Amino acid sequence: MENELTRSTVDPKYTWDVTRIYESDEAWEAAFAKLKELGDAIAAKAGTLASGKEAVLSCLRMEDEMGCVLSCIYTYAMMKQNEDTTAGKYQAMLGRAGTLYSEVMAKAAFITPELLSLADGVLEGYIADPDFADFDAALAKTLRMKPHTLSAREEQLLAMAGDVCGASENAYDMLTDADMDLGTTRGEDGKKTKLTDVRLNSFLVSPDRAVRKAAYTNVMKGYGKLGNAIAAMYAGQVKGDIFNAKARGFKNCRESYLYRDDVSEDVYDSLIDAIHGGLDTLAEYLRIKKEQVGLANMHMYDMYLGVDTGFDIKMDIDEAFETFLEAVKPLGEDYVADASRALPDRWIDVYETKNKRGGAYSTSVHSAPPYVLLNHKKTYDGLSTLCHEMGHAMHSFYSNKTQPSAKADYTIFVAEVASTCNEILLSEYLMKKYEGNRAARIMLIGHLLEHFRTTVFRQTMFAEFEHKAHAMAEAGESLTKDNLCAMYYDLNKLYYGRAVKVDKEVQYEWMRIPHFYSSFYVYKYATGFCAAVALARGILSGDEEKLAAYRRFLTLGGSMTPIEELKVAGVDMSTPQPVCEALDYFAELVMLYRELLSQEENA
Ligand SMILES: [Zn+2]
Repeated sequence: MENELTRSTVDPKYTWDVTRIYESDEAWEAAFAKLKELGDAIAAKAGTLASGKEAVLSCLRMEDEMGCVLSCIYTYAMMKQNEDTTAGKYQAMLGRAGTLYSEVMAKAAFITPELLSLADGVLEGYIADPDFADFDAALAKTLRMKPHTLSAREEQLLAMAGDVCGASENAYDMLTDADMDLGTTRGEDGKKTKLTDVRLNSFLVSPDRAVRKAAYTNVMKGYGKLGNAIAAMYAGQVKGDIFNAKARGFKNCRESYLYRDDVSEDVYDSLIDAIHGGLDTLAEYLRIKKEQVGLANMHMYDMYLGVDTGFDIKMDIDEAFETFLEAVKPLGEDYVADASRALPDRWIDVYETKNKRGGAYSTSVHSAPPYVLLNHKKTYDGLSTLCHEMGHAMHSFYSNKTQPSAKADYTIFVAEVASTCNEILLSEYLMKKYEGNRAARIMLIGHLLEHFRTTVFRQTMFAEFEHKAHAMAEAGESLTKDNLCAMYYDLNKLYYGRAVKVDKEVQYEWMRIPHFYSSFYVYKYATGFCAAVALARGILSGDEEKLAAYRRFLTLGGSMTPIEELKVAGVDMSTPQPVCEALDYFAELVMLYRELLSQEENA
């Protein structure tokens, strides 16, 4: 790469200011040493929690302080390591932070079981007591687990079994990260290139169909060859889930996972039902895309094909940042004013530098403004990523500002709402800005439609797959390569078969999805996206009440259960309505897309 930036050549004003967490590595070391002491002090509280309110309060305050310091220690080390992933010093600090985390968590591990062993009614009393206001959400969560918590000895056995239950995931990670060889494939230049899972994505956008087809087929077949072993690994994961669900007295695996977020199984089922109702529109979109890219028939390996409309957005970071601030204007003047600090106050690490971590994310500690890591490129993707990550950052900013540290962190279930909402605001803002520009509008809508396809439809299909697999195993059926592949193939037929030729190799695709080793997780991408769409549309309608509700949601952190928080925001995920609303929006976009494409080039 020409003129590659390094940490010493990049303009500091475009780097994040880590010193807001710790002034120096020495200050980090001092905090590290202090946290060890704090861990010991907490451990000394074991056995005291039955002695009354003051003992419990003081223990919870210490645990909270421990959590804050731990998050500072970990975040600082992670950010420094991410700046230069080859820096041995920060690699070591990050490793030490990880070890310290396990150490102090082990020291505080007595708290939950001791709280749960308090006499009936005591915890309920604390939750209602204003002195416990900072801890009510955490205590309510603990109390909710009570019916599924076992005796001390049994809990110890379950903890010991944890390693065994994780063996499948470890084996899968080792296989796919280290041992797997997917061979080579021919690139656009005709030369053979080593094929990896990550590289597949770049082959799938190639305008050369032979390149797409070969790469896709080779990857799928590569997985297929290991299918019996991977099916055994996945069966192991599911068996571990069944073991834990049964041991804790849940009706089934899905209930055991959803229970943690206080989400009922109806939410999951109604998501799937609603999405099934949108499959005709998905097919319609795929047919339009097929025509747009000039294919007589569309195969699975054609779906990611990008369309060059001749329009892109090439903004450097200053311009992108200004555009972001314009796009989020509907969120209110104060939101814009707060967000406008991000670049000048160095929340953002903007540019790719040598050995910097790839991708983008947002992170925060309670005591300082949030941070955003980017690898900014002058493309629409670069701009959209900035808006997305700033959505996370502002959600953290308002939650940290409003909530005490013990309830400032929001759950994964709501995490993608603020980020997706900002992306939609951006897209709607640009659609207006480029009102008469056909190519721009086709690019913007095409982008959003693909986002819908991959986040809402694809993730729901995954959710359906893992639900079916667990249900099969719970019914006593064994999970084999053949029945998992057959089930996955049928799902693809259902989701895409109306418009796409479902090649038989797709039956192996489930083997490529690492998320299946985090059970019942992916549905949250789909629900989060749908909630965000419904909320963004409410905000854009100009309804002040809807805006105020959303703004309140941004301040809630983890102070309520996710479904309750989203109700505050204005969407009720326990009904299919938000998903249906999102699908209506999808249908509108598909219609608009068709219209734009059918217009004459120079119209
Ligand atoms: Zn995100």
